[in-house]
Amino acid sequence: MADGSQPQCCVAGGGPAGLMLGYLLARAGVRVTVLEKHADFLRDFRGDTVHPSTLQIMVELGLIDRFLKLPHQKVERLGGMVGETPVAIADFRHLPVRERYIAMMPQWDFLNFIASEAKAFPNFTLLMNAEATDLIERGDKVVGVRATTPEGVREIMADLVVAADGRNSVLRERSGLAIEDLGAPMDALWFRLPVEPGDTGETMGRFGAGYILAMLFRGDYWQCAYVIAKGSLEQLKSGGLESFRDAVAAASSFDRKRLDAIASWDDVKLLTVRVDRLLHWYQDGFLCIGDAAHAMSPIGGVGVNLAVQDAVAAANSLAKPLKAGSVGLADLRQVQKRRMFPTRVTQAIQVAAQNNIIGPTLSRRVQPKPPLVLRMMQWFPILQRFPARVLGLGVRREHVAEYIRAGRG
Ligand SMILES: Cc1cc2nc3c(=O)[nH]c(=O)nc-3n(C[C@H](O)[C@H](O)[C@H](O)COP(=O)(O)OP(=O)(O)OC[C@H]3O[C@@H](n4cnc5c(N)ncnc54)[C@H](O)[C@@H]3O)c2cc1C
Repeated sequence: MADGSQPQCCVAGGGPAGLMLGYLLARAGVRVTVLEKHADFLRDFRGDTVHPSTLQIMVELGLIDRFLKLPHQKVERLGGMVGETPVAIADFRHLPVRERYIAMMPQWDFLNFIASEAKAFPNFTLLMNAEATDLIERGDKVVGVRATTPEGVREIMADLVVAADGRNSVLRERSGLAIEDLGAPMDALWFRLPVEPGDTGETMGRFGAGYILAMLFRGDYWQCAYVIAKGSLEQLKSGGLESFRDAVAAASSFDRKRLDAIASWDDVKLLTVRVDRLLHWYQDGFLCIGDAAHAMSPIGGVGVNLAVQDAVAAANSLAKPLKAGSVGLADLRQVQKRRMFPTRVTQAIQVAAQNNIIGPTLSRRVQPKPPLVLRMMQWFPILQRFPARVLGLGVRREHVAEYIRAGRG
């Protein structure tokens, strides 16, 4: 059991999962230290979608009014183009929550906000520039984490170490926990395009003959993801930047001149898509959450949402035993039990979309027509509420336990 000078929980990774868990545990009175390897949260092209379920967590915590003062755009409806046909896909305006939209907000604003709220608790410590490199084990139990910091290597002992260090988690690799790889046939190229007068400002996906382009309206720019077959970037590059610009212009219906904003390949960032999950998320003294437990496909933009929901479930199950110094395997098992189901279902939907929509669209030579299910959603708009519910609220919603809201452990 940690002595009074040690954290009861050490979280590696200051992303949505790690910072939200750190905040919630600190609010419940647990001594918690979060390690973040970077000096700040400034990272371009990350999940910038704050979903209705995450906004509702902010409501439950009484943070929502301050949070919504940060600059953001509201996405109440999601649409798309299938070939030449515009389609409405999801309508969030009927969800049973207070904020019925996706808030598009730079992830660094979201993370800075959570970090600054957490710092109000004296039992919360955030170490920036601190990179977790290894687990410290005693027998079969994890008892701490080794980290490289500007002051040198530090050993941080804790009753529980949580890996929230993302899809390339070092700690999950060190733990040796087995991974199930579900595969992904595509990668995504991220870049920005300028907004011009007359743009609709509607966040949408465009599915055409051999292309998929997601366009997220960000107020003063478009954040775009152009989907390519896995591993085909070098082939695309060999065709030259001009032909890439031509392809994006055709997919976006933007004037070709606007594509000159992509000045070089340096303006195009590759996201290697992965879909995987751990078979077991924990061992004695150690737990993985967020992308460290399950890397998600970008389909649906649900990665941040799942990471936050994992953090809430983990805090609900672990705050009391951590405070009591009694956290054990049964508590950790409880977290996996709660979160494995939504992970499995969400990944199953993503894999089905990869296999039945993404893959076939990328190999098409003629413009597609909307499938029956999309056509029905246009005839009966009420059907757009179903995808809105799955995307906006997730498969299993978490609520912050009353004792954490009240700030008692
Ligand atoms: C290009 C791109 C676009 C995306 N678009 C969307 C989207 O639109 N919507 C959406 O919901 N999701 C999106 N995602 C996915 C989303 O970003 C992730 O699912 C989500 O951020 C997972 O949160 P996390 O906290 O588990 O991990 P991460 O966000 O990856 O956070 C991990 C944190 O740990 C830190 N870290 C890593 N290693 C260490 C270490 N050894 N020691 C200390 N700290 C460490 C990292 O710096 C990072 O801050 C996107 C991802 C990418 C890459």
